[in-house]
Amino acid sequence: MYDSIIIGCGFAGAVAARELAEKKGKKVLILDSRDHIGGNCYDRYDEFGVLIHQYGPHIFHTNSKRVYDYLSRFTDWYEFSHKVVGNVHGKELPIPFNLNTLEMVYGERAPELEKKLVAQFGEGARVPILELMNHEDPELKEIADFVYENIFLKYTMKQWGKSPKEIDPAVSGRVPVLLSRDNRYFQDTYQGMPLDGYTALFEKLLDHENIEVRLNCQGKDCLRLDLEQGKIYFEEQRFEGDVIFTGALDEFFDCRFGRLPYRSLEFCFEHYDKPFFQSHGVVNYTVSEEYTRITEFKYLSGQMEKEDTTIVKEYPMAYEGKDGEIPYYAINNPENDGLFEKYRGLVEKLPKFHLLGRLAEYKYYNIDAIVERALELAERI
Ligand code: UDP
Repeated sequence: MYDSIIIGCGFAGAVAARELAEKKGKKVLILDSRDHIGGNCYDRYDEFGVLIHQYGPHIFHTNSKRVYDYLSRFTDWYEFSHKVVGNVHGKELPIPFNLNTLEMVYGERAPELEKKLVAQFGEGARVPILELMNHEDPELKEIADFVYENIFLKYTMKQWGKSPKEIDPAVSGRVPVLLSRDNRYFQDTYQGMPLDGYTALFEKLLDHENIEVRLNCQGKDCLRLDLEQGKIYFEEQRFEGDVIFTGALDEFFDCRFGRLPYRSLEFCFEHYDKPFFQSHGVVNYTVSEEYTRITEFKYLSGQMEKEDTTIVKEYPMAYEGKDGEIPYYAINNPENDGLFEKYRGLVEKLPKFHLLGRLAEYKYYNIDAIVERALELAERI
């Protein structure tokens, strides 16, 4: 019946499905345990007509023309440059910390400090906070301490339950100290939001005669791997085609080596009968509150004329695998990555069982990286 089976209908699964269906003429079945397509990028209109992201803000940005052109086949774009401010004791500071932020914090001392930073790292440099903290120069150290204390420490403690020094440096490095006056959160060439939302994009992506989507269906319930023999069974029949798995690998194997640690989030949505709640699409609470950030969706969707507004607050927590909890972020460190390798080792002898995406590869990927990997994998199959 099917040539390929894909578990999970987020960007990883949906892009791979489209490519296999369209370019390779494969009949593809996608299974997803949820009752909707789009994975964590799923968006929908709430009861007030505001387009919300059910699983937290997803903002598209990429330097890859290939990825941008590919997705542009399935959506037009709302050209939107995402800007974030940090609420630091009531004052709003541009994030990433940049030369504008420097000026706001240091006033007349800023030009001298700017000179020093630029002499050290170069104009336009993106300096990870942990690198800046290593500098001996007292003034550079002072800036580093300010940024660490006021932008990173509390936010990261909330988000990860650990300090920036204790987590993978690549994570804090995502939001560098930026030696320019560019207040955008991302500096990528292409950035924007799907004009009609992500779900509409996914509907087009999946609209192909060779693709069938089955929702409310756990991959684990229909797929069985014979690890000894290196064989795959789908609904108890031998399946010889390719399987792309985008779910959590530990859970697929009933956590037999123990759980892979993830961070989860609880989202609290609030609606207000006023045109705007805050000054920017996202405000990070970097020194106060229990939530990390507040997203006001109308900035992201472009519903700027609306008289009312919906926001979401994000409360991070450990993922324990309880019903309804969702694993959002892999916690990458040598120990956890080692545990993941044990799980990956289980499927190594199954060349037709492919792991793809944030969950299945236990990595912190952005949307564009996932799309690129899905295109590459489909090409290889
Ligand atoms: N971060 C921080 N303060 C901020 C923004 C980010 O400490 O105001 C740190 C935090 O550890 C976070 C990481 O940088 O998890 C990456 O931030 P990003 O905005 O990329 O996270 P995402 O949007 O993927 O949750």
